[in-house]
Amino acid sequence: MATNIEVLASRRGRPLLTFNGNIFQFERDGLEKKTWRCDQFQKCKCRCRLHTSDNLRNPELLRQVGSHNHEPKPIACDVKKVMTKIRQAASSSSIAPAQLIANEIRQMPAASQGHMPPAHNIKRGIRKVRGVTTGSLIVPSKREDIKLPDSFKITSNNENFLAFDSGSHADRIMIFSTARNHEFLSQCNVWLVDGTFKPKLGICCALGSATVNPSSAAASAHLDQMGGMSEFKVKGPPTP
Ligand SMILES: [Zn+2]
Repeated sequence: MATNIEVLASRRGRPLLTFNGNIFQFERDGLEKKTWRCDQFQKCKCRCRLHTSDNLRNPELLRQVGSHNHEPKPIACDVKKVMTKIRQAASSSSIAPAQLIANEIRQMPAASQGHMPPAHNIKRGIRKVRGVTTGSLIVPSKREDIKLPDSFKITSNNENFLAFDSGSHADRIMIFSTARNHEFLSQCNVWLVDGTFKPKLGICCALGSATVNPSSAAASAHLDQMGGMSEFKVKGPPTP
């Protein structure tokens, strides 16, 4: 039976279905089938239920039991669909929240766009999803065990931040920089490199560098002030 069923997820990750402009919540598993109840079962005492095949990824509608006692809610379905997509994109990408929200809202029907939750609420949801994704990182005891989540490999401007990674071995070298800063370095005649220092994680040491172009009068004056060395501060990965 051909259906226009779409599987979504609630804010808490529970499965939902949309079908003909209504939203259904997962109710129970049966013998090779799943039962879903209309999400208006409390508010409107709606008794409409769906039976689908057991395949949650691509469920087939087996039958509808009862009918709705309320109007369909196509706009609410659109909002649920987009919120599901935003949460999925939040967990699988490191796109900046504002950009991620704009990307998804752009694709929804114009009439539904004004019904999305406030942006700050959606951003909080994105941070929460990403916190779950990255919050359980294990502190590595060896360099080869370092596993950087994607959100640590780009800057808040969506520029690639992990410029080089020699691979998972004991002498692993990772270089963090943007292409823009590479370009900047390539245009400078003199690179001043600060010493190595030990960050908190004992398995690593970091090399900091600062670059100035002595042909710049302002830079020369600054160098004089600093006694010939420029101060360098390593910035941590951007906050997702
Ligand atoms: Zn209903």
